[in-house]
Amino acid sequence: DYTEYECHILRYRKVTQKKSSYYELVLDYTPFYGEMGGQVGDTGVLVSEDETINITDTKRENNQSIHIVKALPKNVEADFMACVDTDKRDASAANHTATHLLDYALKQVLGEHVEQKGSYVSPDTLRFDFSHFQKVTDEEIRKVERMVNDMIRQDIPLQDHRDVPIEEAKKLGAIALFGEKYGDKVRVVQFGPSVEFCGGIHAKSTGRIGMIKIISESSVAAGIRRIEAKTGAECEQMMYDLEDGMKAIKALFHNAKDLQTVIGKYIEEHEAMKKNIEKFQAEAVERAKERLLSQARDVNGVKVIATVLPLAPDAAKDLAFKLRAAQPENMLCVIGSKHEDKPLLTVMATDDLVSDHGFNAGKVIREAAKLIQGGGGGQPHFATAGGKNIDGLSAAVDKVVELAQL
Ligand SMILES: [Zn+2]
Repeated sequence: DYTEYECHILRYRKVTQKKSSYYELVLDYTPFYGEMGGQVGDTGVLVSEDETINITDTKRENNQSIHIVKALPKNVEADFMACVDTDKRDASAANHTATHLLDYALKQVLGEHVEQKGSYVSPDTLRFDFSHFQKVTDEEIRKVERMVNDMIRQDIPLQDHRDVPIEEAKKLGAIALFGEKYGDKVRVVQFGPSVEFCGGIHAKSTGRIGMIKIISESSVAAGIRRIEAKTGAECEQMMYDLEDGMKAIKALFHNAKDLQTVIGKYIEEHEAMKKNIEKFQAEAVERAKERLLSQARDVNGVKVIATVLPLAPDAAKDLAFKLRAAQPENMLCVIGSKHEDKPLLTVMATDDLVSDHGFNAGKVIREAAKLIQGGGGGQPHFATAGGKNIDGLSAAVDKVVELAQL
């Protein structure tokens, strides 16, 4: 499996998709592997004396590697050296190898019913789909991780049995992979107890994987679970990210030693404060109710309460309902409230205003809300509207009263 080859461009063609275009190249000799069996294609460069062209992907068509490039070399006849990005390929090979170990460990931990249903492998990540009929528990995930990591530390060498008659392969204990076709002779890839038919690119030994960490387990279809995992350098990076995140959280809590207890205490305090605020708010609403009722104007026999108050939205609603409970007939209440620099209109009417005067809070509020550059709606007896222009709040309150035509 070479990673550099002297070569020439045999054929090329332009492919245009939507607004972008790229070129597909076929080389006479190539070390590039095309995407296969869920393992992403190689990337790398095509180098001549005069220029370097990036190969961004490799596909496989009719047993041929198709190299994807953004632009053609200026001289397509030149002598080239095709060089695979070996870091990426190695990372990809390590991730692919990890899927073999995962397959083995999942069978050990969950049972022989586990069967690979697909996989996707790139240099950064790996995905493994398999048959299993319930959620894999956290405990089972740990067991699988420990088993795979143990196999990684044992640095089990790759045993690549090529051109093995299929019967012999089955005797070796090879497990057929999803979506692959097999001829009379097959390739069997073995890492210690893990034996599979496979045509992919593998690490020379399991130690190359470095480490595995499963990052998610989910359902993709009935009876099919998906595991996503990171390996090697990606695990290292994840550890640093976790460490940095933890440090930042600790700093927020003044580097407290027992972080869990401290955060628990903060949450408790927060809950207590919230309850206190709710209590104070309820008291404020009660006081406002008494004051507003005593100050209500009488317009042709209807008590009109129109006011602007600094209230949270739920408190404004609470106040409106309390006012109606205290004055269940012949009352119109319009509250303009300000909360966190946002205006809110709340309109409450007693049922007789709706039935006898044809009042409709939902309709009226839509018109009045224009003055606070907002919108809203509701029922005939109760409606609310939010907006952007706090300066229009007073005028909007007056507008509701005007539109009520009492
Ligand atoms: Zn493989």
